[in-house]
Amino acid sequence: MSETRRRITRSSTTRAASTSTARRPAKRPRLDCNDASDDAGSGPIASASVAVTETIVTETEELVVKPKRKRQAAKVAPPPAPRVDSPWKIGAHVSTVGGVENAIGNALAIGANAFALFVKSQRKWESAELRDTSVSLFAERIREHGYDPKHILPHGSYLVNLGNPDAEKRAKSYDCFVDDLKRCEQLGLVLYNFHPGSTVGQTTVEESLSLIAECLNRAHKETTNIVTVIENMAGAGNVIGGDFSHIAGIINQVEDKERVGVCFDTYPIPTGHGYSAGYDIATKEGWDAVMSDFDKQIGLKYLRALHLNDSKTPHNSKKDRHENIGQGTLGLAAFHHISSKRQTATSQPWCEDHPTVWHTEIATLYRMSQMSPAEFAAGQEGLEGRLERR
Ligand SMILES: [Zn+2]
Ligand SMILES: [Zn+2]
Repeated sequence: MSETRRRITRSSTTRAASTSTARRPAKRPRLDCNDASDDAGSGPIASASVAVTETIVTETEELVVKPKRKRQAAKVAPPPAPRVDSPWKIGAHVSTVGGVENAIGNALAIGANAFALFVKSQRKWESAELRDTSVSLFAERIREHGYDPKHILPHGSYLVNLGNPDAEKRAKSYDCFVDDLKRCEQLGLVLYNFHPGSTVGQTTVEESLSLIAECLNRAHKETTNIVTVIENMAGAGNVIGGDFSHIAGIINQVEDKERVGVCFDTYPIPTGHGYSAGYDIATKEGWDAVMSDFDKQIGLKYLRALHLNDSKTPHNSKKDRHENIGQGTLGLAAFHHISSKRQTATSQPWCEDHPTVWHTEIATLYRMSQMSPAEFAAGQEGLEGRLERR
């Protein structure tokens, strides 16, 4: 591929991400679902040069960007890092460069007990079918290494907007969406995480919610078992998912409630009904409040996954700029009270670090999950030091 296609949103997201890369040279590639450097199945794992923060894109322009450097040959995944036995299943969004089956080696390399992946390019409407060898190797490897499909969370395309009132555009989104679900079923997966959509400024939120639910109902009938997992979003502009009431509004209209779930991303933090100032999950009280409101408005039984992200921006800024864990405005303490909460750990036995982490980050999260508040207070500095040094 002689050029890299990178999506540019109307926000300053891409610009911000590029400058952040320039300011702090990446010690590691960020191959999460925000990674704009490679389509699934092409390009090398270690050559990601652009980190783009996650944003819903429904009103996008596309820009052809010349690559700054030549692609290198795909690298072999590093040897496995130790995996921790814990009720939490922590992982990252791993690369599928070279084929979906390579996700497993990449997850093993960072000591992940869970992982996210793209099952096709997140930036193209159409992709080649999964190769038979990829499908069989994927199944073989997850079995061999003991990854439960419940702990694998594919991430959907950024192009899809099931809430678009334009029937033709919505149909195109729907086809891409269902194609993804069918790929997941081919791979023996059970969950599928997607961004709900946008009104594109052409309809009401209520109408968009109904359109999304209608698409989900159709998609559930066209497939057999995948649970469609809705992710919360930054509440900016026309985007759906910035408030729990949006997610509840979709779920209420879904006919088969067994086939719908929610992925809670710690950033963006929803504004929350009745919480005009937003939740401040940097504090334990804030986290308890957000979970309690989640339960009231949506129901904790729908919570299937967490995306653990720190943030570059202050809370309630309605901007979605991810930062490495412990290094943003949330701070490590936020992830201690999230990961050590027994109730969450038992009722929702897995989470996903997103964006990509090295094994240090995963190991730190596992250690924190077993620490009492006093133990964490005593060890916080050391943990932060380890994260900074990696
Ligand atoms: Zn996402
Ligand atoms: Zn996310």
